[in-house]
Amino acid sequence: MLGAIRGEVRFKEPLSFHTSLRIGGSADIFVIPQDVDDIRQALSYAEKEGLPLEVIGGGNNLLVKDRGVRGVVVKLEGCLGRVEFRGEEAVAGAGASLSALIREAAALSLGGVECLVGIPATIGGALAMNAGTPDGWIGDFVSAVYFLHADGTLGEFKPGTGAFAYRTFHCPSGAILIGARLGLHRRPQAEIQKDIKQRLKQKKATQPLALASAGCVWKNPQSDYAGRLVEKVGLKGKRLNGAEISSKHANFIVNRGGASAADILALMDMARDRVQAQFGITLEPEIRIIGE
Ligand SMILES: Cc1cc2nc3c(=O)[nH]c(=O)nc-3n(C[C@H](O)[C@H](O)[C@H](O)COP(=O)(O)OP(=O)(O)OC[C@H]3O[C@@H](n4cnc5c(N)ncnc54)[C@H](O)[C@@H]3O)c2cc1C
Repeated sequence: MLGAIRGEVRFKEPLSFHTSLRIGGSADIFVIPQDVDDIRQALSYAEKEGLPLEVIGGGNNLLVKDRGVRGVVVKLEGCLGRVEFRGEEAVAGAGASLSALIREAAALSLGGVECLVGIPATIGGALAMNAGTPDGWIGDFVSAVYFLHADGTLGEFKPGTGAFAYRTFHCPSGAILIGARLGLHRRPQAEIQKDIKQRLKQKKATQPLALASAGCVWKNPQSDYAGRLVEKVGLKGKRLNGAEISSKHANFIVNRGGASAADILALMDMARDRVQAQFGITLEPEIRIIGE
């Protein structure tokens, strides 16, 4: 089954090569599929061998633990990477880059999604995380999502109310997202470009973009900001080996070089414990943690 995969199959692949944090042990089996059939082959191999299977996109929201991932990791970034525009709609493969979609839409004077600019993501990862900002979430634009179910069959889902929530998409369990339709709207190109520029400038001013990170570590608790709470408990700038609670934005943990997943997790424990003790609020991770 692995032999039938036309894309790439690698063994003991370091996942630090595939995460924005540049951290993570190896995946036993790492698949970069070429098409949906390759994903099906990976699914049936994992099923037959009784192995767990993880899907990743660009790895921008992932903390992979230091001993890596047992089983199969399928990386969709670059696979299913097409974006087509039909009228005011974009039809995008799960491996397409969100920023490329925003750029290509802008060139066609199609806007709306510029509130998502600067979020490093594949479409699949953005959907799974309901990526966005308080100005808009990807779920706001989605009219249909396409899946590959664990048994290899295809599915289409028209999201209704509640399908997308804060940092969550309630999709069928075990389903792999393979694409989506997004509704855009016509807007003068100069306005879109101006908006994009302003948003990128704002991100650069407030986030530690020059250093490796996985974006915000914690979900914001209701009516507060996780970054504010972590700062209030005195942990902004706290370092542990190569890991640092960013001195620019306390909801980011950056890898200044040589940080391990254990360092990041220790800083997270410290922040969670202090925020709990001081404010009685339990911080919940926004980043997805995988591996052992
Ligand atoms: C500098 C920086 C800034 C960021 N700013 C923001 C921001 O402003 N707003 C925001 O929302 N996020 C932000 N993030 C976080 C991150 O960009 C988003 O969560 C993004 O959606 C992750 O996409 P990805 O393709 O990298 O997904 P990954 O990190 O690879 O995966 C994330 C999750 O999605 C699942 N997944 C991925 N693809 C699929 C698929 N095809 N089918 C099923 N499940 C899948 C994975 O299993 C995993 O659980 C930032 C990150 C960084 C590094």
